[in-house]
Amino acid sequence: MAEIVVLGAGMVGIGAALALQARGHDVTVLDRREPGRETSYGNAGLIQQEAAEPYAIPHEPSKLWHYAIGDSNDLVYHVPAVLKTAGPLWSYFRASATRRHRLIAQTYSRLTGRSTADHAPLIEAAGAQALVQRTGFYQMHRDPRAFDKAVGEAARLRATYGVESRVLDGAALMTEEPALRREVAGAVHWTDPWAVKDPGGLVAAYARLFVDRGGRVVNGDAQTLTQDGGGWQVRSAEGPLQASDVVVALGPWTPELLGRFGYRVPMVWKRGYHRHFRVATALNRPIQDAANGVLLSPMVDGLRIATGAELVDRDAPRNLRQLERGLAGARELMEVGEPVNDDVWVGHRPCMPDMLPVVGPAPKHKGLWFDFGHGHQGFTLGPTTGEILAAMFAGETDDDVAKKLGYGDASVFGGARYG
Ligand SMILES: Cc1cc2nc3c(=O)[nH]c(=O)nc-3n(C[C@H](O)[C@H](O)[C@H](O)COP(=O)(O)OP(=O)(O)OC[C@H]3O[C@@H](n4cnc5c(N)ncnc54)[C@H](O)[C@@H]3O)c2cc1C
Repeated sequence: MAEIVVLGAGMVGIGAALALQARGHDVTVLDRREPGRETSYGNAGLIQQEAAEPYAIPHEPSKLWHYAIGDSNDLVYHVPAVLKTAGPLWSYFRASATRRHRLIAQTYSRLTGRSTADHAPLIEAAGAQALVQRTGFYQMHRDPRAFDKAVGEAARLRATYGVESRVLDGAALMTEEPALRREVAGAVHWTDPWAVKDPGGLVAAYARLFVDRGGRVVNGDAQTLTQDGGGWQVRSAEGPLQASDVVVALGPWTPELLGRFGYRVPMVWKRGYHRHFRVATALNRPIQDAANGVLLSPMVDGLRIATGAELVDRDAPRNLRQLERGLAGARELMEVGEPVNDDVWVGHRPCMPDMLPVVGPAPKHKGLWFDFGHGHQGFTLGPTTGEILAAMFAGETDDDVAKKLGYGDASVFGGARYG
């Protein structure tokens, strides 16, 4: 009998498995695919140490107007999906109001603030240094007014949370990035985040480390989970697995599984796309093209153009509008060649209305643990929430963990929120 089964081998599941294993537990990870092949594969690859404040839904009327008329590329929506998730979206909108958002950020900034430190020993032990560039990324602005505003915001984030940045005008940016052929207003260079050239490869490297340290990764369908006497059972390709404890780390697929056990998880899925392109001159660092809502990331497979958010049903057909607009914008800035292959990746950010991941014991079932809902920053936060989960598993209370790990208001965090 396994002691703990972690369901889901994305960055979050593997991060939890490693942290539990480090505390001496016998852990098996179950996934229907190889580790790191879903959302943790397709993201923009940033370990976002600078993301002190989670992504809010803007309240400014001018921004909402641009969203309403479909004039903005960082967020587009489909009316049926908005109606279907109206309740969670309304909660998300309310949590985005400045006062509440800043309160949430007291916790969030502590989590993202320690993210690179939590990844560092794993990168080292997994021998994955070559995948990680400790160079930060640029948030680039074409319009001088938007640039001035971003410079002000960077100063606020430094004063409030100690987030480091440099400011570059358009000429300085061109000097640092010879691939650029057009001068823009300028960029904020977030200096402390790390850029990963193959996000799925990093998860796979962490999974190998977990196996080398004695863990097991097995193939199977998490939906076969049942309660079995005092413990849990799930079917795997290697036969039934029994465990005293189960961690649910299924990212965007979490609500289906937990629904079967009576939990209504109000997840908002924000879809994103990426595609790889050939370039003659690679970027030295990722560039966020703020005007077009895309991230241009140099990856092992070419230039990855990753889009902002599309509010759609998880199974809705693809709509390549954001990607095409992002590509057109990128081609104004630099020479972008043909796609590397025919693949257009699509995935969904698993966002919670209060913008915080859900980590901790399930309120209604003994031996069931939550680790999901990491939204825009799950690639960043997997190892960090793994540490929190492992501490709670060891019997530490929300308050103990909050104090020890130095995050803010413990009452807004933890599994009991969605009981
Ligand atoms: C376009 C885009 C860009 C992003 N950029 C960044 C970024 O730069 N930095 C950052 O920190 N975050 C980023 N994110 C967010 C980040 O990718 C996610 O928050 C994170 O990957 C979620 O990790 P996860 O482990 O929870 O989910 P996943 O990686 O999706 O893992 C869930 C796992 O569960 C498995 N699974 C699901 N159902 C079953 C089942 N029934 N049986 C067995 N297994 C199952 C899946 O196969 C999968 O392996 C981005 C997201 C998108 C879409």
